[in-house]
Amino acid sequence: MALKQYLLIPGPTPVPPEVLSALSHPMINHRSSDFKAVLSEVTEGLKWAYQTKNDVLILTASGTGAMEAAIVNTLSPGDKILILNIGAFGSRFVKIAKAYGLNVDDMKIERGKAADPKAVAQKLKEDKNKEIKAVIFQMNETSTGVINDVKSIAAVVKEHGALVIVDAVSGLLTADLKTDEWGLDVVAAGSQKAFMVPPGLSFVSMSEKAWKAYEASKMPRFYFDLGAAKKFAATGETPWTPCLTIAFGMQVSMRMLKAEGLENIFARHNKLSKAVRAGVKALGFGLLTDDRCASKAVTPVIPPAGIDAEALRKAVREQFGVVLAGGQEDLKGKLFRIGHLGYIDKMDMVTAFAALEIVGTQMGANIKMGSSVAAVEEMLK
Ligand SMILES: *Cc1c(COP(=O)(O)O)cnc(C)c1O
Repeated sequence: MALKQYLLIPGPTPVPPEVLSALSHPMINHRSSDFKAVLSEVTEGLKWAYQTKNDVLILTASGTGAMEAAIVNTLSPGDKILILNIGAFGSRFVKIAKAYGLNVDDMKIERGKAADPKAVAQKLKEDKNKEIKAVIFQMNETSTGVINDVKSIAAVVKEHGALVIVDAVSGLLTADLKTDEWGLDVVAAGSQKAFMVPPGLSFVSMSEKAWKAYEASKMPRFYFDLGAAKKFAATGETPWTPCLTIAFGMQVSMRMLKAEGLENIFARHNKLSKAVRAGVKALGFGLLTDDRCASKAVTPVIPPAGIDAEALRKAVREQFGVVLAGGQEDLKGKLFRIGHLGYIDKMDMVTAFAALEIVGTQMGANIKMGSSVAAVEEMLK
């Protein structure tokens, strides 16, 4: 028999049955009043999730499309920008920016650590002529399981005057993000992470300051032109045919999330993050990050010496259907990652640690059966 699958990766996340059935909605005219109502409900929900009154535009693309849109709509070739590169997604921003001819200051930070707002402030102080046009960073770096102090970083960038561009694709809804209160100019998100919907749509918010930058921007753009998106959004449409299927899914997931409430959603992710960290310690495995900057979405785990992360990942998948993520960039093969965002729940964590105990023991780790499961249970009480 095919194994039951426990998809515990940091996106795409599992999809609740209510959303899955919404995905089978027949196609309708994407310029009909029926579909306008769907887009309008999704947009209102996004504003709620972003905690913003700014425009939030809907793109048919994975999260990387939203990252690219953030860059091509606010900057011009040759502009100097500062990227706080704390992991693989920071490196992706560097690649996108270079592809568009930006002058990138790549502030590469030790993997497993968050960006230090004081170091960012120092860097911006040195920019006497205010050449840096934007500071770009992740809310949550999925490859290293690190959450940045977005509020403090944004505050020092505001003092300097550069745009604050945040990739919150894996971070949004896993922890508080106050787009307006913290002065975030552009924020990117995607359907397949904490929204519990398959990949296909991504989202970008634009502050008034970001729209001013848009007017001045000379970057080439077409598909991701947010000016066009804004114009069409005013009539409840998108410039091009959107992925209607995912919009139907987003409508249902948004209703579920709103019924739960932001504080409860944050608390749910926080609880799972704490439970996983307790489980890892009880297993005798290692954590990449310390508690202060621990992601609420995903936890990287370092197996003990002599146990290969990839072999362990393969064994838990083949024996128990537990699907974990591998390492990225330099961390490939050195660790595996447990996703705990979106439609991943408490019992999924118990399951994952039960499987890790059995497979870890098979591979020679000295594990007392039930020890990590007990540690997880303690945190879930
Ligand atoms: C998932 C993710 C993205 C988007 O990646 P896609 O594969 O394009 O969906 C962007 N940034 C972060 C931090 C992510 O976790």
